[in-house]
This record gives sequence, structure tokens and C-alpha cells, in this order.
Amino acid sequence: MIRTVIRSVAWTVRTDTTPDAPAQPLYEAECTTCGEMSGAEEGSRVGPEMWALIHTGKNPSHRSYKGAETTFWRVFPSDGSAVGDSSAEAAGGQ
Ligand SMILES: [Zn+2]
Repeated sequence: MIRTVIRSVAWTVRTDTTPDAPAQPLYEAECTTCGEMSGAEEGSRVGPEMWALIHTGKNPSHRSYKGAETTFWRVFPSDGSAVGDSSAEAAGGQ
């Protein structure tokens, strides 16, 4: 067996700004009593908070929620060189 290292690449992780990624964090709430979820809202937690208030109104014993904020990251070559398969990676995701 022959092994060859063609190239060594240093990687860095940053916020994903590619067109497929949400532009802002996603917010979502989950009732810890029954597991029902609010659905995700981009850029604001108002919708999930309103959902929690309404959910407790309908189910008065359900008063505990898990709130989640999700951000999206992408890994790029540190030197901005092209590695792999997309032009977004080659551009460094700017
Ligand atoms: Zn519930």
C-alpha cells in the first residue's frame, strides 16, 4: 500500500454566509412536559415565546420550556484556497 500526502490544509470555522444558510439564528421552543415544539422562527424569539404562552394557556400544567437558538457554521480553508467542490468554499464564504 502506498500513501501519499498531496497537500496539507489548515481549516477555520466561521458563520455560514452562503445563500443556503439562514441569514439569522433560528429560535424554537419545546415543552419539556409533552415534547411539543413551536416550530422555528428566523431572527426572532417572539413567535416561539407566544407559542409557549398559548401552549400553557391550553395546558396549564405545562409551564417549562426548552428554548433553542441555532446558528449555522461552515468550515473553510484558512488561506482561502479552493479545496473541494464549491465556489463558495473557494471564496472563503464572504
Ligand atoms: Zn406541553
